[in-house]
Amino acid sequence: QELIHIIGGGLAGSEAAWQAAEAGATVIVHEMRGVKETDAHSTDSFAELVCSNSFRSDDHEQNAVGLLHEEMRRCNSLIMRAADLHKLPAGGALAVDRHGFSAEVTRAIHNHPNITVVREEVAGWPPDDWSNVIIASGPLTSPALADAILAKTGEDALAFFDAIAPIVHKDSINMDVVWAQSRYDKAGPGGTGADYLNCPMDKDQYFAFVEALKTAPLHEFKDWEKVPYFDGCLPIEVMAERGVETLRHGPMKPVGLTNPRSPTVKCYAIVQLRQDNALGTLWNMVGFQTKMRYGIQAEIFRMIPGLENAQFARLGGLHRNTFINSPKVLRDDLKLKNDTRIRFAGQVTGVEGYVESAAVGLITGRLAAAEARGETLTTPPRTTALGALVDHITGGHIESESYSGARSFQPMNVNFGLFPEVSITRPEGVARWRGPDKTIAKRRAITSRALEDLKSWA
Ligand code: FAD
Repeated sequence: QELIHIIGGGLAGSEAAWQAAEAGATVIVHEMRGVKETDAHSTDSFAELVCSNSFRSDDHEQNAVGLLHEEMRRCNSLIMRAADLHKLPAGGALAVDRHGFSAEVTRAIHNHPNITVVREEVAGWPPDDWSNVIIASGPLTSPALADAILAKTGEDALAFFDAIAPIVHKDSINMDVVWAQSRYDKAGPGGTGADYLNCPMDKDQYFAFVEALKTAPLHEFKDWEKVPYFDGCLPIEVMAERGVETLRHGPMKPVGLTNPRSPTVKCYAIVQLRQDNALGTLWNMVGFQTKMRYGIQAEIFRMIPGLENAQFARLGGLHRNTFINSPKVLRDDLKLKNDTRIRFAGQVTGVEGYVESAAVGLITGRLAAAEARGETLTTPPRTTALGALVDHITGGHIESESYSGARSFQPMNVNFGLFPEVSITRPEGVARWRGPDKTIAKRRAITSRALEDLKSWA
């Protein structure tokens, strides 16, 4: 049986190795820590948690990451087993004792009869005689391997920083205030001329907004994390600092757009949202990358007319992060289009978070093991959290030319906006069904459908 080579023993690589080995495959994990360090890890343990010790909500009925936990448990996940064994009290969240957790994963990997661990850096493209490879080298992929990935995939296919604009759930946008229109009604390829949602601002609202941006507290960076600015992609608070009119001549320019509700009054500024996923459930705030702290972001963005009650699938950020342009370079089965020996897993594919990284590891480990047996396994159904993540990184995301020309595929946590719509029936006797009850029912429908649909794949 052919060997599976896994590069990286982090969250994704450990889970991939475990899944493949449990499926009977023979696995070699190449992990460089122990001989070469990264800027964020501080041990040579497998699946080290570099920052928080939380796997976020464990509620599998009402929370997308909680659902992902449950799906992974049902797929014999090592990461989830170790997390459950080393759980700490944290309300509805799953927090873990980081040392106990990593020690557990390390032990399981080292003791598995089908897994060999080699402590070495893979400092270039995987050699030709490795026929079944998973690259799970993470957001801090070593420079030598990153260079090899860049050479293989091309300049525009590997990013070293994420410049993230916030993403809003469509059903939380006030459609009585915003309107759909593209600038100058221009219909791009596949567009309708009404591809953006526009939030109008008058002069007072705009000035208050700029003032709030200027005084917002910023995320503190460690030295190595510092992100260089490039002019096409400045954080909005930096633009606000440059002058009160700067944003109005940049991402908030009001030209080529007319508010149908008051066509004779010219807007002083306009915030645009662009569809972010094929399902149309998520919309990103165009040109709104930011380094503001998370808590304050939501507060300030809700000052924008139409976003008073906005729920964010993801807040903005600017971080060091190595990740490939997955929708462009990967096939649906997570294989690299121009070298099909190679699959990618973990944060480097453009998912965000410990659990999501491990989840993609789980899927690739199983796919690689099936291939080693000479079989083909499909990816999980897209109605599951596992499948929704694969869909986000390989196809569900809409790649379009953004303001500033920055590439638009950016890492994302799992969230309900990534799932296909589900139909729910209005309870008898309720005339207009809105608000929290409807949201709860909808989430319950999505999560129970997911667990049902996962059964055969698991
Ligand atoms: P990693 O866990 O980083 O594993 C990759 C492994 O590959 C590492 O062990 C590395 O040593 C190894 N490696 C790299 N290059 C090579 C090579 N050439 N040869 C051999 N081995 C190699 N997510 C959260 O959910 N919560 C957080 O609080 C959080 N904080 C983060 C803080 C920082 C500073 C960073 C960078 C990321 C953070 N993330 C967080 C995001 C992400 O969830 C984690 O980085 C997660 O560890 C990603 O899992 P992974 O398996 O893809 O990568």
